[in-house]
Amino acid sequence: MGDENAFAVLAKAAELQRQGRDIINLGIGQPDFKTPPHIVEAAVKALRDGEHGYTDATGIATLREAVSEDLARRLGVEVSPDLVLITPGGKVAMYMAILMFGAEGTEIVYPDPGFPIYRSMIEFTGATPVPVPMREENGFAFSAEETLSLLTPKTRLLILNSPANPTGGVTPREEIDRLVAGLAAHPNIAILSDEIYGQLTYDRAAHRSLMAYPELRERLILLDGWSKTYAMTGWRLGFSVWPKPWREVARKLAVNSYSCVNSAAQFAGIAALGGPQDSVEAMRAEFDRRRRAVVEGLNRLPGVSAVTPKGAFYAFPNIGRTGWKAKPLASALLEEAGVATIGGPDFGVYGEGYLRLSYANSLEAIERALIRMADFLGRPASANASG
Ligand code: PLP
Repeated sequence: MGDENAFAVLAKAAELQRQGRDIINLGIGQPDFKTPPHIVEAAVKALRDGEHGYTDATGIATLREAVSEDLARRLGVEVSPDLVLITPGGKVAMYMAILMFGAEGTEIVYPDPGFPIYRSMIEFTGATPVPVPMREENGFAFSAEETLSLLTPKTRLLILNSPANPTGGVTPREEIDRLVAGLAAHPNIAILSDEIYGQLTYDRAAHRSLMAYPELRERLILLDGWSKTYAMTGWRLGFSVWPKPWREVARKLAVNSYSCVNSAAQFAGIAALGGPQDSVEAMRAEFDRRRRAVVEGLNRLPGVSAVTPKGAFYAFPNIGRTGWKAKPLASALLEEAGVATIGGPDFGVYGEGYLRLSYANSLEAIERALIRMADFLGRPASANASG
């Protein structure tokens, strides 16, 4: 198994802070907003009302119904609550799906740079990881042609992620149409669509869900959840949609591992989906302001250029002309400039030459971080010991 270096950077930044250093954290990918109060209250009320026992392993029925209504409202798709599985975070659906389909002698195709757990879990199962390069010149979107060219008779699972971590890339609808059309020639390949950032797009780059293609539904797993949309990362609450027989396998994996998701968190999830959605739009609008500031600032740094991300809350600047490799630069920025970022190679080999900055931090903190980075990168090379 591999690891997720964002957590190591989070720990390192916290340690430096404990030593009295002023660290600006653009490392970890989580909203800096508070969970909206009506959601918190629903969890508190559930506990006060005695809702603290085990629940159905697949999730409370009312919550699965709420997920089904949410998908109908947002995506215009019909999903029976019987196909929904509530998980302790969206990540668990990825773990289950890769465990189900990965085995020695098989291949799993996944995005690179991409969420590090894809590759980690693929290798854990013994399957061969087959990366699809996410290219800067393509706005870090999936290329249907390149993705399809990597499918072989050994491919069991194709992992898609749009809007994407770590790049902020959003795959346009026409490209998804082309990909889905091409997948008709590969009917035995399962698809895992990680849409955890589905409600975070900008510039009218509307999110196109794979759920919108009825021809895929018999082999499509949807991964989504509350973490990013409602600022609920630490609640550990996610949802997934599976074809019926696979959901039964996923249910067994749940029973054999975590039994059910924390009951109060599930009540919070009901309140989030059923309550007012204005906080979602308010957060998105604020992320958009920060996105513009971060991209503008990055493009002013010496040797750095950044394409404008169309989704999620990450910028993925190209640092190729700074003379630095990505991971040493990320370490030096943390140690010497007090700015936590993540080196692109932590997201795959195609991430070399890039840094990931999460702009889920205040505009003021982002601006201070950019000044520190400009100061650091503007120093003569000899002043930067490792540069
Ligand atoms: N998928 C992607 C692409 C992510 O970036 C993340 C979290 O960073 C997850 C899934 C996991 O989300 P959760 O916190 O709901 O497990």
